[in-house]
Amino acid sequence: MADSNKRIIVVTGASRGIGRAICLSMAEPGTEIYFNYYAPGDDSDEAAAAAETEKLVCAKGGTAESSSVNVASAQDVDAFFKKILDKTGKIDVLVNNAGITRDGLLVRMKEKDWDAVLDVNLKGAFLCIKAAARAMMKNRYGRIVNIASVVGVIGNPGQANYVASKAGIIGLTKSAAKELASRGITVNAVAPGFIETDMTAALSDKAREAMLSQIPLGRPGQPEDVAEIVFFLASDKASYVTGQVIHISGGMYI
Ligand code: NAP
Repeated sequence: MADSNKRIIVVTGASRGIGRAICLSMAEPGTEIYFNYYAPGDDSDEAAAAAETEKLVCAKGGTAESSSVNVASAQDVDAFFKKILDKTGKIDVLVNNAGITRDGLLVRMKEKDWDAVLDVNLKGAFLCIKAAARAMMKNRYGRIVNIASVVGVIGNPGQANYVASKAGIIGLTKSAAKELASRGITVNAVAPGFIETDMTAALSDKAREAMLSQIPLGRPGQPEDVAEIVFFLASDKASYVTGQVIHISGGMYI
Protein backbone atom coordinates (compact mmCIF):
# COMPACT_ATOMS: atom_id res chain seq x y z
CA MET A 1 0.00 0.00 0.00
CA ALA A 2 1.44 3.39 -1.00
CA ASP A 3 2.29 5.80 1.84
CA SER A 4 0.55 9.11 0.97
CA ASN A 5 2.78 11.06 3.38
CA LYS A 6 5.82 10.34 1.25
CA ARG A 7 6.87 12.99 -1.28
CA ILE A 8 7.28 11.28 -4.66
CA ILE A 9 9.80 13.02 -6.90
CA VAL A 10 10.76 12.15 -10.48
CA VAL A 11 13.89 13.68 -12.01
CA THR A 12 15.05 12.89 -15.56
CA GLY A 13 18.75 12.63 -16.41
CA ALA A 14 20.09 12.53 -12.86
CA SER A 15 23.08 10.19 -13.06
CA ARG A 16 25.34 13.25 -12.92
CA GLY A 17 25.56 17.04 -13.29
CA ILE A 18 22.58 19.28 -12.56
CA GLY A 19 20.14 16.34 -12.27
CA ARG A 20 22.20 14.75 -9.51
CA ALA A 21 22.41 18.08 -7.64
CA ILE A 22 18.61 18.44 -7.91
CA CYS A 23 18.11 14.97 -6.40
CA LEU A 24 20.48 15.84 -3.55
CA SER A 25 18.74 19.16 -2.84
CA MET A 26 15.46 17.26 -2.40
CA ALA A 27 16.82 14.23 -0.55
CA GLU A 28 15.57 14.02 3.02
CA PRO A 29 13.66 11.52 5.12
CA GLY A 30 10.18 11.09 3.63
CA THR A 31 11.21 11.66 0.02
CA GLU A 32 11.27 8.93 -2.61
CA ILE A 33 13.22 9.93 -5.69
CA TYR A 34 12.87 8.09 -9.00
CA PHE A 35 15.33 9.15 -11.67
CA ASN A 36 16.57 8.00 -14.99
CA TYR A 37 19.61 8.15 -17.20
CA TYR A 38 20.17 6.48 -20.55
CA ALA A 39 22.68 3.72 -21.16
CA PRO A 40 21.63 2.19 -24.51
CA GLY A 41 24.45 -0.35 -24.66
CA ASP A 42 24.31 -1.19 -20.94
CA ASP A 43 27.18 1.24 -20.35
CA SER A 44 28.56 0.33 -16.95
CA ASP A 45 30.05 3.83 -16.39
CA GLU A 46 26.60 5.37 -16.68
CA ALA A 47 25.03 2.73 -14.43
CA ALA A 48 27.82 3.31 -11.89
CA ALA A 49 27.20 7.08 -11.97
CA ALA A 50 23.48 6.46 -11.37
CA ALA A 51 24.31 4.12 -8.47
CA GLU A 52 26.46 6.91 -6.99
CA THR A 53 23.50 9.35 -7.15
CA GLU A 54 21.34 6.73 -5.37
CA LYS A 55 23.99 6.31 -2.68
CA LEU A 56 24.32 10.07 -2.11
CA VAL A 57 20.52 10.48 -1.82
CA CYS A 58 20.36 7.64 0.72
CA ALA A 59 23.18 9.24 2.74
CA LYS A 60 20.90 12.27 3.18
CA GLY A 61 18.05 10.11 4.45
CA GLY A 62 15.96 9.88 1.27
CA THR A 63 15.43 6.90 -0.98
CA ALA A 64 16.30 6.73 -4.68
CA GLU A 65 15.76 4.29 -7.52
CA SER A 66 17.29 4.71 -10.96
CA SER A 67 16.39 3.22 -14.34
CA SER A 68 17.91 3.42 -17.80
CA VAL A 69 15.10 5.10 -19.75
CA ASN A 70 15.27 7.00 -23.03
CA VAL A 71 13.08 10.08 -22.49
CA ALA A 72 12.74 10.42 -26.27
CA SER A 73 10.86 7.10 -26.46
CA ALA A 74 7.14 7.19 -25.61
CA GLN A 75 7.24 3.46 -24.89
CA ASP A 76 10.15 3.81 -22.44
CA VAL A 77 8.62 6.85 -20.73
CA ASP A 78 5.19 5.26 -20.32
CA ALA A 79 6.70 2.09 -18.84
CA PHE A 80 8.87 4.17 -16.45
CA PHE A 81 5.93 6.18 -15.11
CA LYS A 82 3.66 3.10 -14.93
CA LYS A 83 6.24 1.35 -12.77
CA ILE A 84 6.45 4.36 -10.43
CA LEU A 85 2.69 4.87 -10.24
CA ASP A 86 1.99 1.16 -9.65
CA LYS A 87 4.27 1.41 -6.64
CA THR A 88 3.45 4.87 -5.25
CA GLY A 89 0.00 5.80 -6.60
CA LYS A 90 1.04 9.43 -7.11
CA ILE A 91 3.72 11.82 -8.32
CA ASP A 92 4.22 15.11 -6.45
CA VAL A 93 7.16 16.57 -8.36
CA LEU A 94 8.49 16.14 -11.90
CA VAL A 95 11.76 17.77 -12.97
CA ASN A 96 12.50 17.54 -16.70
CA ASN A 97 16.29 17.84 -16.71
CA ALA A 98 17.60 15.28 -19.25
CA GLY A 99 19.32 17.06 -22.10
CA ILE A 100 21.97 16.66 -24.79
CA THR A 101 23.89 18.86 -27.22
CA ARG A 102 24.96 18.14 -30.80
CA ASP A 103 26.53 21.48 -31.71
CA GLY A 104 27.37 22.71 -35.20
CA LEU A 105 26.78 25.61 -37.52
CA LEU A 106 23.27 25.68 -38.91
CA VAL A 107 24.27 25.32 -42.57
CA ARG A 108 26.32 22.22 -41.78
CA MET A 109 24.02 20.71 -39.16
CA LYS A 110 22.99 17.15 -39.93
CA GLU A 111 19.30 16.31 -39.81
CA LYS A 112 20.02 13.50 -37.35
CA ASP A 113 21.67 15.96 -34.94
CA TRP A 114 18.69 18.30 -35.16
CA ASP A 115 16.29 15.40 -34.51
CA ALA A 116 18.30 13.88 -31.65
CA VAL A 117 18.43 17.14 -29.69
CA LEU A 118 14.77 18.04 -30.26
CA ASP A 119 13.70 14.48 -29.42
CA VAL A 120 15.53 14.29 -26.08
CA ASN A 121 15.28 17.89 -24.89
CA LEU A 122 11.79 18.88 -26.04
CA LYS A 123 9.79 15.75 -26.93
CA GLY A 124 11.21 14.06 -23.83
CA ALA A 125 9.79 16.79 -21.59
CA PHE A 126 6.42 16.62 -23.39
CA LEU A 127 6.22 12.83 -22.94
CA CYS A 128 7.12 13.02 -19.24
CA ILE A 129 4.68 15.86 -18.52
CA LYS A 130 1.92 13.93 -20.28
CA ALA A 131 2.66 10.79 -18.28
CA ALA A 132 2.93 12.57 -14.91
CA ALA A 133 0.17 15.16 -15.35
CA ARG A 134 -2.61 12.56 -15.52
CA ALA A 135 -1.72 11.33 -12.04
CA MET A 136 -1.16 14.86 -10.72
CA MET A 137 -4.56 15.98 -12.04
CA LYS A 138 -6.27 13.12 -10.19
CA ASN A 139 -4.45 14.16 -7.03
CA ARG A 140 -5.15 17.88 -7.67
CA TYR A 141 -1.53 18.64 -6.81
CA GLY A 142 1.74 18.81 -8.69
CA ARG A 143 4.96 20.69 -9.22
CA ILE A 144 6.63 20.53 -12.62
CA VAL A 145 9.98 22.22 -13.24
CA ASN A 146 11.58 22.17 -16.68
CA ILE A 147 15.25 22.89 -17.28
CA ALA A 148 15.54 25.36 -20.16
CA SER A 149 18.65 27.47 -20.84
CA VAL A 150 19.54 31.13 -21.11
CA VAL A 151 20.38 30.50 -24.78
CA GLY A 152 16.74 29.56 -25.38
CA VAL A 153 16.04 33.25 -24.77
CA ILE A 154 19.10 34.99 -26.23
CA GLY A 155 20.18 32.51 -28.97
CA ASN A 156 23.68 31.12 -29.55
CA PRO A 157 25.63 30.57 -32.77
CA GLY A 158 26.47 26.90 -33.35
CA GLN A 159 23.57 25.65 -31.25
CA ALA A 160 20.45 26.15 -33.41
CA ASN A 161 19.07 22.72 -32.49
CA TYR A 162 19.75 23.11 -28.75
CA VAL A 163 18.49 26.69 -28.65
CA ALA A 164 15.30 25.73 -30.53
CA SER A 165 14.70 22.88 -28.04
CA LYS A 166 15.17 25.20 -25.05
CA ALA A 167 12.98 27.97 -26.54
CA GLY A 168 10.41 25.20 -27.10
CA ILE A 169 10.69 24.17 -23.44
CA ILE A 170 9.79 27.72 -22.43
CA GLY A 171 6.68 27.70 -24.66
CA LEU A 172 5.74 24.24 -23.40
CA THR A 173 6.11 25.47 -19.80
CA LYS A 174 3.80 28.44 -20.35
CA SER A 175 1.09 26.42 -22.12
CA ALA A 176 1.20 23.59 -19.58
CA ALA A 177 1.03 26.15 -16.73
CA LYS A 178 -2.18 27.58 -18.20
CA GLU A 179 -3.72 24.14 -18.88
CA LEU A 180 -2.92 22.61 -15.50
CA ALA A 181 -3.32 25.52 -13.06
CA SER A 182 -6.96 24.76 -12.26
CA ARG A 183 -5.88 21.31 -10.97
CA GLY A 184 -3.40 22.68 -8.45
CA ILE A 185 -0.38 21.99 -10.66
CA THR A 186 2.32 24.62 -11.18
CA VAL A 187 4.69 24.48 -14.14
CA ASN A 188 7.83 26.60 -14.22
CA ALA A 189 11.17 26.64 -15.98
CA VAL A 190 14.68 27.59 -14.97
CA ALA A 191 17.17 28.94 -17.48
CA PRO A 192 20.73 28.15 -16.39
CA GLY A 193 23.65 29.97 -17.98
CA PHE A 194 27.16 28.46 -17.93
CA ILE A 195 27.16 25.72 -15.29
CA GLU A 196 30.20 23.51 -14.69
CA THR A 197 29.19 19.95 -15.64
CA ASP A 198 30.28 17.29 -18.16
CA MET A 199 28.19 19.16 -20.77
CA THR A 200 30.27 22.34 -20.52
CA ALA A 201 33.56 20.48 -19.87
CA ALA A 202 33.41 19.56 -23.56
CA LEU A 203 33.79 23.25 -24.57
CA SER A 204 37.10 24.49 -26.00
CA ASP A 205 39.13 27.01 -23.95
CA LYS A 206 38.16 29.67 -26.49
CA ALA A 207 34.43 28.94 -26.17
CA ARG A 208 34.77 28.87 -22.38
CA GLU A 209 36.49 32.28 -22.33
CA ALA A 210 33.81 33.68 -24.64
CA MET A 211 31.05 32.42 -22.29
CA LEU A 212 32.81 33.77 -19.18
CA SER A 213 33.19 37.20 -20.76
CA GLN A 214 29.39 37.41 -21.02
CA ILE A 215 28.76 36.75 -17.31
CA PRO A 216 28.46 39.95 -15.21
CA LEU A 217 29.13 37.97 -11.99
CA GLY A 218 32.39 36.87 -13.61
CA ARG A 219 32.30 33.15 -12.81
CA PRO A 220 30.61 29.97 -13.99
CA GLY A 221 27.74 28.53 -11.94
CA GLN A 222 27.71 25.22 -10.10
CA PRO A 223 25.01 22.53 -10.36
CA GLU A 224 23.94 23.43 -6.79
CA ASP A 225 23.13 27.01 -7.90
CA VAL A 226 20.48 25.55 -10.21
CA ALA A 227 19.31 22.87 -7.76
CA GLU A 228 18.46 25.40 -5.04
CA ILE A 229 16.07 27.32 -7.30
CA VAL A 230 14.49 24.09 -8.59
CA PHE A 231 14.05 23.00 -4.97
CA PHE A 232 12.23 26.27 -4.22
CA LEU A 233 9.95 26.02 -7.30
CA ALA A 234 9.10 22.42 -6.35
CA SER A 235 8.25 23.39 -2.78
CA ASP A 236 5.00 24.63 -1.32
CA LYS A 237 6.65 28.03 -0.75
CA ALA A 238 6.30 28.60 -4.51
CA SER A 239 2.60 27.70 -4.66
CA TYR A 240 1.65 31.07 -6.23
CA VAL A 241 4.32 30.94 -8.97
CA THR A 242 3.47 29.35 -12.30
CA GLY A 243 4.42 29.74 -15.97
CA GLN A 244 7.63 31.57 -15.09
CA VAL A 245 11.21 31.30 -16.33
CA ILE A 246 13.82 31.94 -13.64
CA HIS A 247 17.28 32.76 -14.99
CA ILE A 248 20.27 31.31 -13.11
CA SER A 249 23.07 32.69 -15.19
CA GLY A 250 25.13 35.15 -13.17
CA GLY A 251 23.37 37.88 -15.12
CA MET A 252 24.02 36.64 -18.68
CA TYR A 253 20.49 37.77 -19.44
CA ILE A 254 19.21 40.88 -17.69
P1 NAP B 1 25.07 16.34 -18.28
O1 NAP B 1 26.08 16.45 -17.19
O2 NAP B 1 25.51 16.03 -19.66
O3 NAP B 1 23.95 15.29 -17.80
C1 NAP B 1 22.87 14.98 -18.66
C2 NAP B 1 21.99 13.94 -18.01
O4 NAP B 1 20.91 13.64 -18.94
C3 NAP B 1 22.71 12.63 -17.74
O5 NAP B 1 22.21 12.05 -16.55
C4 NAP B 1 22.32 11.77 -18.94
O6 NAP B 1 22.34 10.38 -18.68
C5 NAP B 1 20.88 12.22 -19.14
N1 NAP B 1 20.38 11.90 -20.49
C6 NAP B 1 20.94 12.22 -21.68
N2 NAP B 1 20.19 11.73 -22.69
C7 NAP B 1 19.13 11.09 -22.11
C8 NAP B 1 18.02 10.38 -22.62
N3 NAP B 1 17.81 10.22 -23.94
N4 NAP B 1 17.12 9.85 -21.73
C9 NAP B 1 17.32 10.00 -20.40
N5 NAP B 1 18.36 10.65 -19.85
C10 NAP B 1 19.26 11.19 -20.71
O7 NAP B 1 24.23 17.70 -18.42
P2 NAP B 1 23.99 18.92 -17.39
O8 NAP B 1 24.96 19.98 -17.73
O9 NAP B 1 23.85 18.42 -16.01
O10 NAP B 1 22.58 19.43 -17.96
C11 NAP B 1 21.33 19.11 -17.37
C12 NAP B 1 20.25 19.97 -18.01
O11 NAP B 1 20.56 21.35 -17.84
C13 NAP B 1 20.11 19.77 -19.53
O12 NAP B 1 18.77 19.85 -19.90
C14 NAP B 1 20.89 20.94 -20.09
O13 NAP B 1 20.46 21.28 -21.39
C15 NAP B 1 20.56 22.01 -19.08
N6 NAP B 1 21.50 23.12 -19.06
C16 NAP B 1 22.81 22.92 -18.74
C17 NAP B 1 23.68 24.00 -18.73
C18 NAP B 1 25.13 23.88 -18.39
O14 NAP B 1 25.85 24.89 -18.49
N7 NAP B 1 25.61 22.73 -17.96
C19 NAP B 1 23.20 25.29 -19.06
C20 NAP B 1 21.86 25.45 -19.38
C21 NAP B 1 21.02 24.35 -19.37
P3 NAP B 1 23.66 9.49 -19.08
O15 NAP B 1 24.64 9.71 -17.98
O16 NAP B 1 23.16 8.10 -19.15
O17 NAP B 1 24.14 10.02 -20.39
